[in-house]
Amino acid sequence: MAQKKDPLYLTWMGTAGVLIEDDHDGILIDPYISRPGLLSVVLGLSLKPDRDAIEKWLTRPGTKNIRAVLVSHSHFDHCLDAPFFALKTNALFIGSKSALNAARGVPLDESGLKEAGIGRDIKIGAFTLRFIESAHGPAFLGRVPYAGTIDRPLTGRHSARDYKLGQTYSILITHASGTILHHGSAGFINGMYDGITSDIVLLGIGGRGHTQTYLENVPLKLNAKIVIPIHFDNFFVSLDRKMKNLPGVNFQEFLTTAGKYGNRFQLKIISVGEKSACHTWL
Ligand SMILES: [Zn+2]
Repeated sequence: MAQKKDPLYLTWMGTAGVLIEDDHDGILIDPYISRPGLLSVVLGLSLKPDRDAIEKWLTRPGTKNIRAVLVSHSHFDHCLDAPFFALKTNALFIGSKSALNAARGVPLDESGLKEAGIGRDIKIGAFTLRFIESAHGPAFLGRVPYAGTIDRPLTGRHSARDYKLGQTYSILITHASGTILHHGSAGFINGMYDGITSDIVLLGIGGRGHTQTYLENVPLKLNAKIVIPIHFDNFFVSLDRKMKNLPGVNFQEFLTTAGKYGNRFQLKIISVGEKSACHTWL
């Protein structure tokens, strides 16, 4: 008889934001819910984290003790809100040197910051986290936007262009009930997943290049059983409004191409805010 698995839950927050929980602890990755409009970003206006919305999100019934907030890279749609989630929850904030500088400006206390070391395991409750060197997708007209690093604490308000990329990571989360890999930006490095497997892959598909090549180098390489597309929603539109796809994301083409690998992995589309018991999938 198969052994009963401890619960493992997954909630997509929109963009590359996810909450992963067991019955004791929660881990947030790239939480981003403020979603200022396109005009504010294009005009270079100061971006304002919506602290009320963050507070409200964190007090939803059933949300477990958030122990860590992880950042995959320091663009605003991954790192504007993340330090405020850590501030509210006293969770450990883990990211690149640039992400830590964004957090220092909030300010987050130095004791709550941890630099992500590539390939080193970090234990949080029953979770083991590993940051893997990755690459950003060619998200804007074939180029990576806001390249560079954040070299000073981002005190006060800042525009999108101040949230420079920094180091890009994928994050492997290992739990007794399954492994989840967060691939938040649609680039990859050849061989980055040599020797690594994951049951579930959260696959950022906005700004990807060639879909088949991307699938071959990420979920197929990882021997994923389940692939969940993320970061395809139009994150310039408030979460209070009906979700729209990012312009140019070509979701249908992604579904068609991924559908050809139905014998290799199952494609799952989940809704923003829906809490899935992913241990039951495996
Ligand atoms: Zn980005």
